[in-house]
Amino acid sequence: MASKTAATIRSDGGVHADQSVASKNKGSPTCGDVAKPSCEHRYDYELVGYDALPAFLKHDEFMLDHYRSEWPVKQAILSAFTLHNETINVWTHLIGFFMFLALTMSVSSAEHGRVARWPFYACLCGAMFCLLMSSGCHLLACHSERATYVLLRLDYAGITSLIVTSFYPVVYYTFLCDPFSRTLYLGFITICGAAAVAVSLLPVFQAPELRWTRAALFACMGASGIVPIVHKMLVFSARPEAVLTTGYEVVMGVFYLAGVLVYATRVPERFMPGMFDLVGHSHQLFHLLVIAGAYAHYHAGLVYLSWRDRDQC
Ligand SMILES: [Zn+2]
Repeated sequence: MASKTAATIRSDGGVHADQSVASKNKGSPTCGDVAKPSCEHRYDYELVGYDALPAFLKHDEFMLDHYRSEWPVKQAILSAFTLHNETINVWTHLIGFFMFLALTMSVSSAEHGRVARWPFYACLCGAMFCLLMSSGCHLLACHSERATYVLLRLDYAGITSLIVTSFYPVVYYTFLCDPFSRTLYLGFITICGAAAVAVSLLPVFQAPELRWTRAALFACMGASGIVPIVHKMLVFSARPEAVLTTGYEVVMGVFYLAGVLVYATRVPERFMPGMFDLVGHSHQLFHLLVIAGAYAHYHAGLVYLSWRDRDQC
């Protein structure tokens, strides 16, 4: 639990100052044992630069400063309310989680139609799981190497669940009257998702240099959704619901693809290292694009429900 980073004493002896103005007075006395309660309450945890990070926290060399490094869990949780380079990453997906929770509650309180709701709920739950795991990972991974390892696995599992469950409404409602295609597509994507989670358990999977491999794995999984969507358009091209849902799915795909590109290329911080440490770096843009994509998909889900409530087998 004890921080290995140098904790600097505040001139006023106060407690838990805002890390955004974390003390930089390197000459101050340091606490040798911050695990002692008397010590813990008298010292703040300062933000550090990229070069001072242990290897497991080095993910983006274009972000130069405002890192938390090996903070105790309590300080890491409290840091949700202070400014560092993960604050906006935490809040974008936490707010996104509550947004989807509200959408789920509004759907569940609406009048129940004739067709099964579970594929749509599975999709909403997949999105909420992804957003919550991501937010927790950004908040707490700075604690230790073990925490980083476990939380990144949960984060990858969350991304996988978002992708896999986003297939469920598309496939289930489109092929409501075609059990063979429905079972084939649902089985295929579920097995792919399980394989992706298994691969992500390998320690090497989180290596920063494998950024493109990770991006490609998730992108390929998402891209396999093109097959049932093309199949849908071949069979139901005359149905306005099929065209409308495909429109939303194309919008979703564009948002997700943009997110993957931003994530993998680390634009814009690669052009101005250090400029976007707090606001505007690629991971924040990636988070917003994920929420936008999931929101477009939510609208597709509503169209599927109204289509299949009216028109069954
Ligand atoms: Zn993230």
